[in-house]
Amino acid sequence: MLLLEAGDYEFSNRSQSFYAGEVVGDGTLYLPLDVGRVRALGGGSHIWGGDIADLEAYDFEARDYMPQSGWPIGTNELSKYHSEASAILQVEGDVNEEPMPGSKGNLIRFTRGVAKRRNVRDTFYESMRANQNIDLFINANLVDINLSESLDRVHSLSIKSYDFGKPSIQVQGENYVLAMGAIENVRALLNSNAQSKNGIGNDRDLVGRYFMDHPWGAAATYILFHKHPDFFNSSFYMKPSRAFVGAEKIGEFYCGVSPFSDEQVSSYIRSIIKTLACSTELSEDLAVRLRNNFTCAVGWLGLFIEQAPVFESRISLGAAKDEFGNRRVQLDWNMSELDRRTLRRSLFEVGKYMAANDVGRVRMSQYVVEDKTVLRKHLSGGHHQLGGLRMAKSADEGVLDRNCKVFGVRNLFVAGSAVFPTGGAANPTFTIIKLALRLSDYLSGRN
Ligand SMILES: Cc1cc2nc3c(=O)[nH]c(=O)nc-3n(C[C@H](O)[C@H](O)[C@H](O)COP(=O)(O)OP(=O)(O)OC[C@H]3O[C@@H](n4cnc5c(N)ncnc54)[C@H](O)[C@@H]3O)c2cc1C
Repeated sequence: MLLLEAGDYEFSNRSQSFYAGEVVGDGTLYLPLDVGRVRALGGGSHIWGGDIADLEAYDFEARDYMPQSGWPIGTNELSKYHSEASAILQVEGDVNEEPMPGSKGNLIRFTRGVAKRRNVRDTFYESMRANQNIDLFINANLVDINLSESLDRVHSLSIKSYDFGKPSIQVQGENYVLAMGAIENVRALLNSNAQSKNGIGNDRDLVGRYFMDHPWGAAATYILFHKHPDFFNSSFYMKPSRAFVGAEKIGEFYCGVSPFSDEQVSSYIRSIIKTLACSTELSEDLAVRLRNNFTCAVGWLGLFIEQAPVFESRISLGAAKDEFGNRRVQLDWNMSELDRRTLRRSLFEVGKYMAANDVGRVRMSQYVVEDKTVLRKHLSGGHHQLGGLRMAKSADEGVLDRNCKVFGVRNLFVAGSAVFPTGGAANPTFTIIKLALRLSDYLSGRN
C-alpha cells in the first residue's frame, strides 16, 4: 500500500497555506478554511476533541420531511465495526443514555465516550514504518487524477513535492482511495478536469453539493429557580428521542447545558435587574425566590444541530489558484427552513421541560425566535465538514455508490465524512473510522 501525505511530519505554514480558500456569504460565521483543518501527517487528529458519538440507527433511514435523507446502507453495515473502531481509538467512558424524567420521553440525557488515543500520527507512525506492506511518503501532494482513455478507471495519480519547479511524479495502483478530508476530496475531483471538463464523477453537478456541518451556537440562556439536583452547577448534554424528532419533523440536536462562570453570572444578574425595572409575574416570582436565600444559577444552552442536506450548500472552485496551479476552494454554506425549525423546536422543548418541571426558565436568543434571520450569521460550523460526495443508491442522487466508489469510475474510492448523505448530530470521526474499516474489507475482498 502506498500512502501519500501532502503535509510534513510536523505542522508547517507552507503545507497549511494550501487549505486557504474563500467562504462566501455575507456575515457568515463559518471559520476560514485554513482553520479547523490540519494539513500535516495525522490531519485533524492533532487538534480534535476526542469526543466519541455514534449515529442513531434511524439516521440511515429516509425521513419523508427531509429531502435527500437516507443512506444506501443500513446501520448494521457499520455496527459490526464498532468494537474495532473503539479499540483503535481506545474509547473510554460509557456512552450512557437516560430519558429525562418528566420530559414525556422527548428528551434524553446522555454522555459521550472519549478517545484516549487521539493523535493518529503518534499512534501509528512507527508501526507504519515497520510494516513491510506500507510505503509512506510525506510532502507528497496529490495534484491531479488521470483517467484511462475510456474514462472509467483511474490510470495514475500526479504527485508533487514542494519543489515547485520539478515535474510531477506519476504513481499507479490497482485501487485508489481519496482520504484528504471532505473539502479536499471534493477539490481534487473538481480540479481533475483535463479529461472530464466538470471534474471526475461530476456529470450531474453533484460533486461538492449537499455540504453540511453541525451548526453550533449559544442559542439561549437559562436561570434556575432552585438548586435543582440535575442542573445546578452541572454541565451535561440532552438529545431528542426518535419519537420526538419524527413527530416534530425536525433534525437531531445535542443541547449542552453550561452554567455561567462567576464573572458571567455577575454581568448576567446586572442585565436581569435592568430588565426587571418593569414588573412582570416572572420578576415578582424571582424577587420572592431571591429573598428566600436563593443561590442564583444561570447558564447558557449551546445547540449543535443536524443540518439538513440542501443542493445550494456547496463546495466549488474559486478563481484563485495555489502554487500547483490548482484552483482553491470556495464554500457557500447554506442552511434551510428545516434547520430553523430544528433549532427552534428543540429549544422550545427544552424550555418547556424546564418550566413544566419547575427547574427554571429559558430565554431564547432573538435570532432563534425571528423568522427572517440568516442562520449562518448566528451559528458557526462545528469543525465537522460533512457531505459533498454523498453515497447514494444511484448516480442521479449521489457521487458514490454504497461501497464509497465513484459512480462510473471502477477503481476510485473515497474515505471520510464527504460520503455522509446526512450527518445526524453525532461527532463524525467514529463513523469515519467504521466506514474506513468497511472499505478496507471491501478492497481486500473480505466484505
Ligand atoms: C477543533 C476540532 C475539534 C474536533 N473535535 C472532534 C471530536 O471531538 N469528535 C469528532 O468525532 N470529531 C472532531 N473533529 C473532527 C475530526 O477532526 C475530523 O472528523 C477528522 O479529522 C476527519 O478525518 P479525515 O482523515 O477524514 O480528514 P483529515 O483529518 O482532515 O485528514 C486529511 C489528510 O489528508 C492530507 N491531505 C490534504 N490534501 C492532500 C493532498 N492534496 N494530497 C495528499 N494529502 C493531502 C492532510 O494533510 C491530512 O493529513 C474536530 C475537528 C476540529 C478541527
